[in-house]
Amino acid sequence: MQPTASDADPRVRTAEIVAVGTELLLGEIVDTNGAWLAATFADRGVEVRRAVRVPDRRDAIVRELADALDRSDLVLVSGGLGPTEDDLTREAIADLVHETPRVDPDLEAALRARYARTGRAMPERNLKQAWLVPSARPLANPNGTAPGWLVRIVRPHGVRLVAALPGPPHELKPMVEGRLLRELPLPDDRLWIRLFKTSGLGESEVADRLDGLTTVENPNVATYAKADGVHVRVSARAGSADAAEALGAPLGREVARRLGDAVWGEGPDTLAGVVVRAAIARGARLAVVEGATGGALAAALSEADPDRRALGGAVIAWRTDAMDALGDRFGADRGASALEAATDARATFAVDAAIAVGELRSSDDEADVAIVDVAVHDAEGSDRITVRLPERSGSRVRLRVLTRALDLLRRRLAVAEPDSDSALAGA
Ligand code: ATP
Ligand code: MG
Repeated sequence: MQPTASDADPRVRTAEIVAVGTELLLGEIVDTNGAWLAATFADRGVEVRRAVRVPDRRDAIVRELADALDRSDLVLVSGGLGPTEDDLTREAIADLVHETPRVDPDLEAALRARYARTGRAMPERNLKQAWLVPSARPLANPNGTAPGWLVRIVRPHGVRLVAALPGPPHELKPMVEGRLLRELPLPDDRLWIRLFKTSGLGESEVADRLDGLTTVENPNVATYAKADGVHVRVSARAGSADAAEALGAPLGREVARRLGDAVWGEGPDTLAGVVVRAAIARGARLAVVEGATGGALAAALSEADPDRRALGGAVIAWRTDAMDALGDRFGADRGASALEAATDARATFAVDAAIAVGELRSSDDEADVAIVDVAVHDAEGSDRITVRLPERSGSRVRLRVLTRALDLLRRRLAVAEPDSDSALAGA
């Protein structure tokens, strides 16, 4: 049976995102609206299947919308609701539904009142922001002049929805959160997620440990190689938040067991944040000497320590001769080791643990390898690693050395549990 205009709206189970803007295709702006919409709707149990960027061209928008509506229940459109000639989302939707836009008297009054409040006359060009087509309902925009449109379209395979949203993120987000999500027939499905962050294991070593767990779609395990190590995401989808958790949690525990102490944090944790938290829990103060990371280690730790409870001090000496200039305080004279520098920093700053990142060295026999020594000295003793990277220099080298240094510090701080006799604080 063909659907008719009076049919109830179906549940929105699937969605696609169309980001409108030539700026996006020229690489002048990044589609953060697409990322935010994807996360927001996934969180509400909607399967987001596709996201595309299209230029400010009426025919391109119409074609993309028509295709998306063949596949999905809801199409989220961002951008193109401004007053200018290259803002063409309304025109494209009108073409799609074969309707003619007309000025809506209520929207026009609200628009004129908004301008009047700020003591300005409304440019006549803005009148198109008061347009509606019969199939569209307006979505209020508390932060801008352009209302959104929620359009109901009867297609041969069912009732479909298009939500047209303004491009500026500070207008789009409140419109979605305050209006759109309330008006949509969303599924009861909820997504449960646990995100593990690991270090010290490569992506394939993680895959080996998770062998046999990664083939099921729901609950699901996925791995991602990131700058700060391999992340493992466990997710489950079910008819309620409790049911999703019940489905996902046992798998989450099994993943945690298999990854063991390679896991340094979960969800929004950062390595520096974990290190600072561990230091505070142990009453341990830290100091830093850094060469190859050029201040990045001190920056990361100080940002994670706004109350200055963990980081005692830092010395940044990009070159060894700069360390030499500090005298023999940092053991820097002539090729001094990172370990000596850490030992001296611990004494100089009178802290519980100090970490030193050495200078960036090159390898004698491998041209494109960078080598950096990292050492920690604390009340328990010391530890050192040599980081070898297949690149000579650059921000990726710095980031990877930073990650390894923070991870070494984290592991040292984990050695002494806060309530064990041998706490780092050495009290
Ligand atoms: P305006 O009334 O400001 O013209 P609009 O709805 O017509 O709003 P656009 O013209 O497409 O939106 O974009 C306006 C601005 O919004 C862009 O310059 C950009 O700063 C931001 N923007 C647009 N699309 C996106 C997007 N996909 N992700 C992040 N920001 C975006
Ligand atoms: Mg615009």
